[in-house]
Amino acid sequence: MSQRPYNFAAGPAVLPEDVLRQVAAEMLDWHGSGMSVMEMSHRGKEFISIADTAQRDLRELLRVPDNFRTLFMQGGGLGENAFVPLNLSRGGKVDVVLTGSWSRKSAGEARRYADVHVAADAADSGRIPEHWDLRPDAAYVHVCTNETIDGLEFHELPVVPNDVPLVIDCSSHVLSRPIDWSRVGLAFAGAQKNLGPAGLTLVFVRDDLLGHALDICPAAFNYETVAKADSMFNTPPTFAIYVAGLVFQWLKRFEYQGLKGLAAIEQRNIDKAKLLYGAIDASSLYVNRVHPSCRSRMNVPFFLKDERLNDGFLAEAKAAGLLQLKGHKSVGGMRASIYNAMSMEGVQALVAFLKDFEARHG
Ligand code: PMP
Repeated sequence: MSQRPYNFAAGPAVLPEDVLRQVAAEMLDWHGSGMSVMEMSHRGKEFISIADTAQRDLRELLRVPDNFRTLFMQGGGLGENAFVPLNLSRGGKVDVVLTGSWSRKSAGEARRYADVHVAADAADSGRIPEHWDLRPDAAYVHVCTNETIDGLEFHELPVVPNDVPLVIDCSSHVLSRPIDWSRVGLAFAGAQKNLGPAGLTLVFVRDDLLGHALDICPAAFNYETVAKADSMFNTPPTFAIYVAGLVFQWLKRFEYQGLKGLAAIEQRNIDKAKLLYGAIDASSLYVNRVHPSCRSRMNVPFFLKDERLNDGFLAEAKAAGLLQLKGHKSVGGMRASIYNAMSMEGVQALVAFLKDFEARHG
């Protein structure tokens, strides 16, 4: 079994060890081709088969309906903050719901291209606002369904009235749970948390939202252009697609408590989160400030009530084989990201450490 430390980074983040081993084994010679995947033409039959399989597995895992296109792009979440308004806003109105750092960034970028209106703002409430002031003629509504820094997650997608499309930034929880496509117009996600290495960005876009890009939209980021070229308009991030494809295969065979695939990983994510939040709530040293109804299953921010212990906590955690627990610099404190590839044993080790540290310093 693994002797590696447990890695709680927010992204780039832990990957399944099986996948890393397979990548290592195939590095010099992919399937007898005599080439590394990094050395292949993206238009050759070998890479086309890798990309096709990845796309098929992804769609199967997430049950993506036929009227959605799946695009393998570059540019990351921050790139999408511009590409979405460039493709969907028609220069008109965009409504956003602010629940934390990433939705705020999305709103800021969209302002360069559209008339942006904040329909609701969680501010420091630690919960998703209930009342949204939406405009019926908005081109779309943007939400971040898992705020990686603040630790807020939508456990149900909103129903947006007047057929206004919902755009979701699901970068940090994609493939951790199913997506209700009946409520979504477009979803995007950077790969470097739950899918694979940095460099690949997934976009799922409903057919009717293609073809409305502003003239200033770069061709390589025009969803219609990319869709027509099957994500090969420009050279796609081939190696990242390959590794993500192996992660999809790992997910398809993943089993937990009699479940398989996405249902299995979701159940394990629920159990891991319950264990960790339970330990935090039961302690008198640690605190998580997010309302229980919208606590993220993926990113668990917590604070030590005595902040003078922070440095010692991180040093001792590292010595105990628990890496990258430092919170985002904008909020401080700690954050444990417990993505799909984090095992139950990893969360158990973290919980044991939390208790031990508290017993000695609390
Ligand atoms: N959105 C969310 C929810 C994120 O977590 C991140 C990255 N942490 C981003 C957007 C930005 O992604 P990138 O760094 O790939 O541009």
